[in-house]
Amino acid sequence: MSSDTLVDYELVVGLEVHVQLNTQSKAFCSDSTEFGALPNTLLSPISLGHPGTLPRFNQQVLEDGILLGLAMNCQIRAYNEFARKNYFYADLPKGYQITQHLTPLAYDGFIHLNLEDGTRRRVGITRIHMEEDAGKSIHDQDPYDTLIDLNRCGVPLLEVVTEPDLRSAREAYQYLSEVRRLVRYLEICDGNMEEGSLRCDANISVRQRGTEAFGQKVEVKNMNSMRHVQRAIEYEYQRQVELLQRGETIVSETRSFDAQANNTFSLRSKEAANDYRYFPEPDLPPIWVLEEQIAKVQSNMPPLPEVLLERFTSVYGLSAYDASVLCDQKHLALWFEHLVTLTPHYKQAANWTMGPVKTWLNTHALEIQQFPLTTKALASLIDAVQEGVLTHHQAVQSLWPAWLEAPTKSLHDLITELDLGQSSDGPSLEIMVEEVLLSMPSKVEEYRSGKKGLLGLFMGELMKKTGGKVQPAQASEMLRAKLEG
Ligand code: ADP
Ligand code: MG
Repeated sequence: MSSDTLVDYELVVGLEVHVQLNTQSKAFCSDSTEFGALPNTLLSPISLGHPGTLPRFNQQVLEDGILLGLAMNCQIRAYNEFARKNYFYADLPKGYQITQHLTPLAYDGFIHLNLEDGTRRRVGITRIHMEEDAGKSIHDQDPYDTLIDLNRCGVPLLEVVTEPDLRSAREAYQYLSEVRRLVRYLEICDGNMEEGSLRCDANISVRQRGTEAFGQKVEVKNMNSMRHVQRAIEYEYQRQVELLQRGETIVSETRSFDAQANNTFSLRSKEAANDYRYFPEPDLPPIWVLEEQIAKVQSNMPPLPEVLLERFTSVYGLSAYDASVLCDQKHLALWFEHLVTLTPHYKQAANWTMGPVKTWLNTHALEIQQFPLTTKALASLIDAVQEGVLTHHQAVQSLWPAWLEAPTKSLHDLITELDLGQSSDGPSLEIMVEEVLLSMPSKVEEYRSGKKGLLGLFMGELMKKTGGKVQPAQASEMLRAKLEG
């Protein structure tokens, strides 16, 4: 298929994301939600739906749902019902899943994506509803049988459904990154797609460019990384365009992604789709969400990445790129925000945070909360460099590693210990400048006959000779004076 024909078709994608909440206990009983426990050990008769048991709603799920709803600019519904979604499957001992059908907790929202080309896209959020998870089928531990672990039964989920607003596989990828960043900022989910804490189904269709009506969609499941979602969408786009090119029609079906083969294959046709016989859950009373509760959740809202990004660019004058690197993780962003209350040198503060600080964290696989130096310590170092007490080179190469080894020492003591203060006293610098120039007479000739770029070479020599202990501005001025005077 030529790329010309691909240009004729527009991709349309809507995503359904399941966010597994990190509550201590399950959605409708007090069973633990611990990850990685021995199979089938976190199960009360309530999780198994034994006759005579009654579910009881975990209020934390509601709070988390309101929080995500507000963060995604949704309306929050006052009157909420739970519904039973009935189906038969081995990982669902109750025979039904408790979910919200006609009254999703949050609806009619949106989030913004900052695309790589610098533009901004708005993605509509159709609804966010609360539901419980099913158990897990394990296909790769027994050569003959599928094993079932029911521990996950009843673990709370929020399902986030978008409008069909995404127009490329890359946009879908970025939407997922944004959702992951949001749930991590809100600390309601660890956002780990590989471990199943975030799960995504992609609804994909294509239409002739310029036409209004959407094409027939196909739903793709079983993608356990953001890359896989992107690849599955890319594949589906090609496949659907090819079918249409051949005059065939797209059938309504559910497909699965095969990461090895990098393609999708049909699981079931939607013609044979289940009838879930939804009805209101008789064992749980409806929930009223009051204005006061929404206001309370709103008042506990942490700063959101979009707000921080805006502040980092407009107030601290950082580039959009720097701001986005710093805002990737909430605690790093907050650390930086604190740092800039302690030093006026915002740009340097950003460079230190994105450079030496992040490098150290990556090397040690630690979070900023475990960083040994305080913001106050780093601020004093940044100021010392700006004031010319020591050079940037000395700060990064000598002082920084020594300080991280001995974080309780004072900056002043370390400077003395490492003998780092700049030797800016006139005569000795002058002598060294003269020595440097005397050692390179031909280069000096070249400089004097116009090759001004050689100044860098002399500076380099001078730095070597002094072990970096000179003020760059003062040194280059003296070099120039000697060369031109
Ligand atoms: P269904 O009834 O099959 O569950 P919904 O209308 O509830 O479909 O939509 C489910 C998801 O599919 C939503 O994320 C929605 O944005 C998306 N979607 C709906 N129609 C299309 C389409 N033609 N192409 C791509 N995505 C679509
Ligand atoms: Mg639907």
